[in-house]
Amino acid sequence: MKLNIQLFAVPDHRVSKTRKRKRRSHMALEVPGMVKCPNCGEMIKAHRVCPKCGYYKGEAKLEVNEEE
Ligand SMILES: [Zn+2]
Repeated sequence: MKLNIQLFAVPDHRVSKTRKRKRRSHMALEVPGMVKCPNCGEMIKAHRVCPKCGYYKGEAKLEVNEEE
């Protein structure tokens, strides 16, 4: 019995640069649920008291030591 195995060169450009990049556009890590604090403009986690100024929904909820 004759084994009919053939080895082919794998084409270099089967997937175009554009298709490759479009596919990989979904591979980036992202930081979820970040939002800009309406009081101080710092990027903070959504639905949480701002650690920078201690504000949440327009009220001071925490006392923050301002040493800077
Ligand atoms: Zn803030």
